[in-house]
Amino acid sequence: MGKVWFVGAGPGAPDLITVRGARLLAEAGAILYTGSLVAETVLQWAGKDCEIADSKSMDLEQVTAWLLERAQRHATVVRLQTGDPTLYGVLAELARPLDAAGIPVGIVSGVSSAMASAAAAGECLTLPEVTQTVIFTRLSDRTRMPEGESLTALAAHGCTLCIFLSIERIAAVVEHLTVAGWARTAPVVVVHKATWPDEELVLRGTLEDIAGRCRDAGVERQALILVSPALGARSRAAGQSSKLYDAAFPRRFRPAREAGSASDERETDAT
Ligand code: SAH
Repeated sequence: MGKVWFVGAGPGAPDLITVRGARLLAEAGAILYTGSLVAETVLQWAGKDCEIADSKSMDLEQVTAWLLERAQRHATVVRLQTGDPTLYGVLAELARPLDAAGIPVGIVSGVSSAMASAAAAGECLTLPEVTQTVIFTRLSDRTRMPEGESLTALAAHGCTLCIFLSIERIAAVVEHLTVAGWARTAPVVVVHKATWPDEELVLRGTLEDIAGRCRDAGVERQALILVSPALGARSRAAGQSSKLYDAAFPRRFRPAREAGSASDERETDAT
């Protein structure tokens, strides 16, 4: 019986998979990747005789069945996920039946699109004395956000936010941030297809105009929204007081009102 590896493909560029991930792709007898999200160029690391399938049109049960079946025949089976496999995927749901069947499971980290987006934009997610905390989050969809995790509540911290799976509803993101106390002039960076060869797009704006900029650029999928008092730090004079940021960013821990409402979110890493 083989082992099933959940491997992070990284954000897109084929050389941003880890050395361990690439080695497992080369060894694998079978690879199942999320075709809508993983850049196919990453598959260049697969061996010549490897069976490669796209899970785009499979449901959870079909993915599980595929992995279970291939693990009977191959020593190494890879489930290739975009970015890092522990974020916004269905690793737990897929691993459960493998665990139940006694099939060993391994996880290999990947470069998350949050990190890749910051790098593509030339930004830092933390800045001394300005923000030392990063929140990974998203808007709610059919599965509601857990108690206390609404974007308004999280944005009220005034720290860095990496907002996944929400670009389709950028206007609602802006609304949540505004209610949480962020100024209309607060900078926002949207990175579409970070590190994808020839497809990466970095949009810069403010809460006021970012939705329009996304619309004009046709960015409505596979993009990460970065909001942070650390944005633009490189263009500010060294030693500039963090007080300068107060006008644009919310005071920490102020009570926040709820904003916006949930609607469907189509883009997931589920299959
Ligand atoms: N596990 C992935 C996230 C999967 S959820 C990770 O660690 O990055 C899918 C969401 O990730 C998308 O809606 C988008 O918000 C983000 N995303 C994935 N790849 C991206 C990329 N190359 N550039 C920008 N955002 C990306």
